[in-house]
Amino acid sequence: MMTTIPRFAPTTATELVGLLWDRRTSIRRSLDALRREAADAFSRRDLSDMFDQEDPATDSDVAAILLLIDRAEQRLREVEQALARVDVGTYGYCTVCGRGIPLERLRVLPDVSSCVACSSGPSHPSGTRVPLDHRETDGADRRSPQMRGRSDPEDGL
Ligand SMILES: [Zn+2]
Repeated sequence: MMTTIPRFAPTTATELVGLLWDRRTSIRRSLDALRREAADAFSRRDLSDMFDQEDPATDSDVAAILLLIDRAEQRLREVEQALARVDVGTYGYCTVCGRGIPLERLRVLPDVSSCVACSSGPSHPSGTRVPLDHRETDGADRRSPQMRGRSDPEDGL
């Protein structure tokens, strides 16, 4: 299968798709580990109900693992959606405003689906509000993507 991303040279396209594949592999690996951990925590919790164990897994242990699984699954979906966008030729464009996402942002966050302006907009769950006067209204480039682009914490995965 040929990897092509219309916006980029073939070597760059190959590099970005390689990053997506690596990311998908590592998230899948983490998910496997987390699922084993969840199964273990479930069984320790259930056993502790029956046998009053010394070191039982609590509901909050289980909930914490389930939350991690949830987030990993979400990230996996984002990577798979990015690979799907490569297939249909829309990869590298913001899914909100349609502008090209800078290559340096894609290298850091290969599965990102929106540009810095859109992902830091009002719908972003960071809770930091952008004052109206400073919002992008004319589509000009932001100057410091490296300062604002890390909206997706890596969690060491
Ligand atoms: Zn955008």
